[in-house]
Amino acid sequence: MNTYISKNSSFSNKRLFGFFFLVAAFASFTVSAQNNAIELKYFGTAGWQITDGSITVLVDPYISRVKLGTGPGVSPEDTRKTVERSDPYISDTLLIDSLITKADFILAHHSHFDHLADVPYIAKKTGAKVIGTETTCNILRAYGIPNEQLYPVRGGEDYQFENFSVQVIPSIHSALNDKHYLDSRTYTEVPEAPLKVSEFIEGGSLMFLARFARHTVLTMGSMNFVERELVGQKPDILLAGVNRSQLGLYKYNERLLAVTNYPKIIIPTHWDNFRLPYRFSQQSGVEQKLIPFQEDVKRLSPDSKVLIPTHLGTITIE
Ligand SMILES: [Zn+2]
Repeated sequence: MNTYISKNSSFSNKRLFGFFFLVAAFASFTVSAQNNAIELKYFGTAGWQITDGSITVLVDPYISRVKLGTGPGVSPEDTRKTVERSDPYISDTLLIDSLITKADFILAHHSHFDHLADVPYIAKKTGAKVIGTETTCNILRAYGIPNEQLYPVRGGEDYQFENFSVQVIPSIHSALNDKHYLDSRTYTEVPEAPLKVSEFIEGGSLMFLARFARHTVLTMGSMNFVERELVGQKPDILLAGVNRSQLGLYKYNERLLAVTNYPKIIIPTHWDNFRLPYRFSQQSGVEQKLIPFQEDVKRLSPDSKVLIPTHLGTITIE
């Protein structure tokens, strides 16, 4: 049976802190560092750092959290420069350096800026190998990442590396704009860097089954999936795309849980307001998206546990 602890950062919201403190107090007796427990650190958006002690894998590491446009979520206390989609994208390298020191692999679900725009800097800095679509790889080539570091995939691949293997699963993007969304553009050639925010096009979407020493993690970078592509999956941990139910998908929670065989541990991803810096509360996202999701999972799969991540907090699964 899985046990877990959760270490929260100073940015954690207070209501959750008490809960996690209790859990940590109980579970810390059972956790030892060298037993291939898996640690998942949440970078916000769809971003994760996952390690089993021998390998470090980043998933869609988006750290800069630029203040994009004037849309909802922009707080009066937030004095950062507003970035337009027509502006060149600039990574917050100081912030990235403070959070990311090493990585062996980076898994990129798709190429939108909130998934990929910090990856050129992180791949260059760490030398991590990047697994992503042709569009993802061409964007990285634009920033000078060498081919040896890039594994272009389309979904269907199952690659064995030294201490780690990863199955690439074809997927689809969240049904943005009330389901009026389809972007079939790709970069079949290397674009010109630096890219504008708007030039980080989707370029197709993927999911990954990442196999660590003792755990398998099924990752999502959107709130959508191709059901038939997941048949037979039985991950230990599901990073589930969670957003408001208004996205209008047919029985999303029911279908996702059933096709992934009711994972024991489910961690919501891509639910926060990524236009706000880490220090701003994400309580509204927790209340409006995660608690209803948690309730729904309790009803649909009583043996599953939904763990609510906090910015820069670490969840440890035994
Ligand atoms: Zn996207």
